[in-house]
Amino acid sequence: REPREPRDQVAHIAPHHDGVRYPDAEAPYYLATGNECDVFAACHARGLPVMLKGPTGCGKTRFVEHMAWRLKRPLVTVACHDDLSASDLTGRYLIRGGETAWIDGPITVAARLGAICYLDEVVEARQDTTVVLHPLTDDRRFLPIEKTGELLEAAPGFQLVVSYNPGYQHALKDLKPSTRQRFVALQFDHPAPAREAEIVAHEGGVKPSVASALVELARRARRLRDQGLAEGPGTRLVVATARLIAGGIPPMDACRVALAAPLTDDPDLLAAIGDLVDATL
Ligand code: ADP
Repeated sequence: REPREPRDQVAHIAPHHDGVRYPDAEAPYYLATGNECDVFAACHARGLPVMLKGPTGCGKTRFVEHMAWRLKRPLVTVACHDDLSASDLTGRYLIRGGETAWIDGPITVAARLGAICYLDEVVEARQDTTVVLHPLTDDRRFLPIEKTGELLEAAPGFQLVVSYNPGYQHALKDLKPSTRQRFVALQFDHPAPAREAEIVAHEGGVKPSVASALVELARRARRLRDQGLAEGPGTRLVVATARLIAGGIPPMDACRVALAAPLTDDPDLLAAIGDLVDATL
């Protein structure tokens, strides 16, 4: 029997280039809020790594997908978690049928292909990942693969992009200055009301009037941060609520299950959001 551990690891490390997304025929829908597309394209042309800062669900991932399409680059996305190590990113030896084979990890795949490599929530990853991230952000972008001894120079088109939510960082989990100062940082935020309503109508499949009402509700709920709500509803939650309404769920119910309940377990805050729903819809 094969040892259990290596087989279990196969799933996360993108063997055979699974997890590489090639540009579709149609552009992923992204509504820009400023000149972020031009800035990103300029960074791409100059090989500069980019950090996307901002709250959850405000369009960072969609932006990267859209830019990868525009720049005609493959996209490799890694959702970082607190167990993610440098070797999860670079790759590892696996034993298969008694033979040992090297399997590139996602960042190695991206560096070889000249892809955009998006590390979502990079602060979550283990500290040792800086060993691979720092050399990839140097002028000569290379990836040291410790286990094989390979020093891989990133192919043209490779770009490192990370996302980071300053809202819920605590002192123990913050990016070190030596890491953050290697990136160009683009700030994301909840879009202005008219734009957010346009996004919600497009993505959620609801009429503009419904989209505007949901956005107004979300804006009011975001103010509950002052009353202890950890983070207000992102556009993702507003879109999910709209989709339920478009699917025939009564708006009050949709708001309760898709907008209020995912945000908090606190009964007082839930009641406050419930009042907002009653007052807004
Ligand atoms: P993040 O990566 O910031 O957590 P996402 O990019 O996954 O958030 O955005 C969540 C959802 O919100 C997207 O799937 C999309 O439906 C919608 N969305 C948010 N902002 C935009 C935008 N500017 N243009 C298009 N869709 C957006």
